[in-house]
Amino acid sequence: MTSPRLEIDLAKIGHNAQLLVCELAKKNIAVSGVTKAMLGNPEFAKTILAAGVSGLADSRIENIETMRLAGIKSPISLIRSPMISQAARVVKSATQSLNTELVTIVALSQAARANNVEHGILLMVELGDLREGIMPCDLEGVVGKMLGLPNIRLDGIGTNLACQNGVVPDVDNMGALSALVTQIELKYEIKFPVVSGGNSANLTWAFGSKTMGRINHLRLGESILLGREPLYREPIDQLFTDAFVLFAEVIESKTKPTQPCGTTAQSAFGAMKGRQKTGDIGQTLLAMGNMDTDPQGLLPIQNVEIIGASSDHIVIDVREQSAPVGSEMAFQPNCSALIRSMASPYVAKHYHRDGVALQ
Ligand SMILES: *Cc1c(COP(=O)(O)O)cnc(C)c1O
Repeated sequence: MTSPRLEIDLAKIGHNAQLLVCELAKKNIAVSGVTKAMLGNPEFAKTILAAGVSGLADSRIENIETMRLAGIKSPISLIRSPMISQAARVVKSATQSLNTELVTIVALSQAARANNVEHGILLMVELGDLREGIMPCDLEGVVGKMLGLPNIRLDGIGTNLACQNGVVPDVDNMGALSALVTQIELKYEIKFPVVSGGNSANLTWAFGSKTMGRINHLRLGESILLGREPLYREPIDQLFTDAFVLFAEVIESKTKPTQPCGTTAQSAFGAMKGRQKTGDIGQTLLAMGNMDTDPQGLLPIQNVEIIGASSDHIVIDVREQSAPVGSEMAFQPNCSALIRSMASPYVAKHYHRDGVALQ
């Protein structure tokens, strides 16, 4: 079989999505399924829609266009602030986009009017993680200026925590978001249908807090795909953590010294961490490297250890295992390894559902 290869079990992913949707529904929280890691794969999109997500969300307009071309009609939100240069594509394919800049919203308004469509805006608020977001003190002003823009609908406000600086969603920052909602609604006598509290990192808060305040929506990617919450990467109860397995082929298998021979300086990827052991080991090379995945984000399924990587190779200490040339090794990817593998043209993607291949 071709390798490197990601085996993707859509039945497990569908189960994860369904369970999260169901548990969050008890808290009156709707879920948008985030499709960016899957590059907008339509079969994945259909799987999570069938599991009950209220809509889809992606950071790239290309992925949203892929899903539209495949006939997916559900609401789709663009969750990275649109580029002005892509405004026309955004209003054509995305139902809604997350925004922080008035100049961009004006461009979307003009593009929406030219295309005779209505475009939804979710204003993102900065609550401490310091990636995208309008400063809370500026929110009122931005809302005032965008109300009344032609072909624009203000769907609500949202925030994003944890991704940039690891700021934990908690009672304080979620409370601040709710308070902002109330303040703006009172000021302009409007009602926000959507208050989007964040991403998978919000699950610990959502399942652990008695009240959700005004938050009624989350955007979930990693938790659906990998069954873990991203703050401490703990498995989430009853979810599958093994929907993805990455395979690579052994191209060299030899007994070699653990320590390099000669004067050492930087390697292809900067300083090496240094090999720990002494004596000889069984060293195996895999035909997979930094061009294919994030080697540091791989958990070997066999009892072997990753001791190095370069563009095209991963170096393995096989310990007690046998690893003949031509055989395969399997790994569980973390989020970083998964997105690199999904985006790599060198890695084959094999989708299946309950053991039946899809493509
Ligand atoms: C990627 C992303 C998400 C999903 O994050 P996960 O941790 O994968 O759930 C949500 N919101 C925004 C703005 C994102 O960029």
